[in-house]
Amino acid sequence: MTPLSRHLAAQITALGPMTLANFMQQCLLDPTHGYYATRDPFGTSGDFTTAPEISQMFGELIGLSLAQSWLDQGAPKPFILAELGPGRGTLMRDIWRATAHVPGFHDAAKVTLVEASSIMRATQAKTLRAVHPIWVDTTADLPSGPLFLVANEFFDALPIRQFIRHNTGWVERVIGLDRDQFVFGQTPHTPLTDLSYRWDDTVEHDMIEICKPGQIIATIVGERIATHGGAALIIDYGDWRSLGDTLQALQNHEPTDPLLAPGEADLTAHVDFEALAKAASPAHFTRLTPQGTFLERLGITERARALAKNIKGTSLKSHVAAHRRLTHPSEMGSLFKVLGLFPNGALPPPGLEQ
Ligand code: SAH
Repeated sequence: MTPLSRHLAAQITALGPMTLANFMQQCLLDPTHGYYATRDPFGTSGDFTTAPEISQMFGELIGLSLAQSWLDQGAPKPFILAELGPGRGTLMRDIWRATAHVPGFHDAAKVTLVEASSIMRATQAKTLRAVHPIWVDTTADLPSGPLFLVANEFFDALPIRQFIRHNTGWVERVIGLDRDQFVFGQTPHTPLTDLSYRWDDTVEHDMIEICKPGQIIATIVGERIATHGGAALIIDYGDWRSLGDTLQALQNHEPTDPLLAPGEADLTAHVDFEALAKAASPAHFTRLTPQGTFLERLGITERARALAKNIKGTSLKSHVAAHRRLTHPSEMGSLFKVLGLFPNGALPPPGLEQ
């Protein structure tokens, strides 16, 4: 058993089975042994790769979409340019480079990163040396003011709870111990009452997932945008409404058992975009749009052609593959979706529609 497994097992022995959210939170963010606290998980030597790590085009187009929203809203000065869970800092670096020629944008932007992991903060500081960002621990700590925000593969890393429809109500999927193995179990019933809205679209034994931290963060972002102006682009895998077990563990780019090696594998779940959109009210939300459609509307193919002119050989091959990977429906193009948030009376962020 690893130190984190022993720690989790001791809690279960003392307090009884724990919620999946409690388990995920500790596996990912335990300050000493958590997954994000102990490694840089990206790239071919890590456990997964994200869109900004695949091609610079992703961040460039997001930067231009955010900058256009800023211009559309009268170029407010100063404003907060924020990213939730910035990973290696690659997305913000590409946003920054692509917006260098938007008059006044860099001067007015206070780049603010919401990052829980000190290892990731150190990597971000290196990548973004020229940008001079500041870091905050939580979304609630973002400075006040107009907020232009991006979150790519952030909400999928937040802890979820899972509920199964059973007879006249819901039971919760929890984690217990069988000798020294972690095992899934179920509570006899759940006291949670706010699941009733899922009664009409589910049947006996269906599973639904609730991500409370995601909803709280969406509420904070929505309130800021509705009050001070701004826009948010939330990009992730998931759908308009969660149905079924989407908990996933990845280690060395391969799926693994989520209970097998706590803290050693990345744990994620699909994002329930409906829950985020509703939590963000009174900010308005856009139609949920496949990533491929969003990037095509922003001109990724023209940008890919322009970049292709200056490269050849294996670099050209991998550039063409990256364009396909980001946009093609059989790759990331339809699994990943984009949700935009914007204030009443403003235009939706470019690439999205109301
Ligand atoms: N957006 C990046 C990285 C996605 S991975 C990219 O597209 O490449 C998730 C990121 O969110 C990591 O930087 C991780 O350290 C951070 N993170 C995970 N949970 C968090 C939390 N609760 N609060 C703040 N940051 C978190």
